[in-house]
Amino acid sequence: MRSFDYIPAENADSAIAEAAKPETRFLAGGTTLVDLMKLNVERPSRLVDLTRISGLDTIEVTKDVIRIGALAKMSKVADHSDIKDAAPVLSESLWRAASAQLRNMASIGGNLMQRTRCTYFRDPGAYSNCNKRNPGSGCAALEGVNRNHAVLGTSDACIAIYPGDFAVSLVAFDANVLVRGGTERSIPIDEFYLLPGLTPHIEHELSPGEMIVGIEIPRCAALKRSHYLKVRDRASYEFAAASAAVGIELEDDGKTIRDVRIALGGVATKPWRVRSVEDALKGKQLDEARLRSAAAASVQGSRSSGHNAFKIDLAPKVVARALMTVGGIA
Ligand SMILES: Cc1cc2nc3c(=O)[nH]c(=O)nc-3n(C[C@H](O)[C@H](O)[C@H](O)COP(=O)(O)OP(=O)(O)OC[C@H]3O[C@@H](n4cnc5c(N)ncnc54)[C@H](O)[C@@H]3O)c2cc1C
Ligand code: SF4
Repeated sequence: MRSFDYIPAENADSAIAEAAKPETRFLAGGTTLVDLMKLNVERPSRLVDLTRISGLDTIEVTKDVIRIGALAKMSKVADHSDIKDAAPVLSESLWRAASAQLRNMASIGGNLMQRTRCTYFRDPGAYSNCNKRNPGSGCAALEGVNRNHAVLGTSDACIAIYPGDFAVSLVAFDANVLVRGGTERSIPIDEFYLLPGLTPHIEHELSPGEMIVGIEIPRCAALKRSHYLKVRDRASYEFAAASAAVGIELEDDGKTIRDVRIALGGVATKPWRVRSVEDALKGKQLDEARLRSAAAASVQGSRSSGHNAFKIDLAPKVVARALMTVGGIA
């Protein structure tokens, strides 16, 4: 780990001004950034500590929208009674992430900005060939052990998975990321994360010095009847092999699907909304055979790299199971 300057910011303006300087990173809970610095993957020379800034850890649930400050802790959001009631999927996706200790430290802003867990990316001492860490150097995972790598949204340059859970539920429900830098702006979360293409080192829409100040999730009936299903190699403290964030709204007959939301985690290079399956189900009767047949298309365009082929079978089953749960037919 290299030495660095530590800059405690008193307010958002000073944090943003400091972060505009080169080789600077924001520090929130530190649960990802400090790890990556110890591994020599991240090498900032300046850290701007956000944790003293007041007013950025609020959680607000109004009639129309849910607003969560970037410094709100994962555990506080997961356990918030209004969030559990209005948006179970948000609470569940946070509870199923990491461990209790990590959730107590980690912030929502830091969670959105976590980086891939690709083992080759995280081991610069052993692997120099990683296009994400070292653009143009190749991709060790393509010929390596790639069981935990993506089958959707990949490119010849990178097959790394977006590892988080919470952003998957945000993508399903059209959340916006609220950002401050030179100006304030709101970025639809589906546009916030970028596909790797030929530039896997560019992962998101934020410019240097821009800070996430919060997120906004519009409320809807499908959000109230929502669920996050995470399938993983062990029951806790593990990233997703495949996950689905879903929500459903039924017509008054209790059988016809008026609205449905579906996003996949653990299988793609970014949180993966599957609008084609949503469109195929809207207006249709809710039944197991239809859900299973529609869910099969959730991995359309997928590409296996070898060891990760099982995800192509698994993901549609996770989608169907999650939809059956919210539909009350599981
Ligand atoms: C062992 C382990 C298991 C885990 N398992 C899971 C899991 O199952 N599911 C899951 O979703 N996550 C998992 N995580 C990831 C965990 O959720 C993240 O480490 C955590 O959410 C990061 O938040 P933080 O506040 O500690 O961020 P930090 O480590 O402080 O920062 C992370 C990154 O975000 C940037 N950043 C922080 N705040 C802002 C801001 N406001 N604006 C712009 N940039 C910002 C930092 O500069 C840094 O680049 C796991 C982590 C570990 C270590
Ligand atoms: S999958 Fe991406 S992050 Fe992993 S080694 Fe290849 S280029 Fe690097």
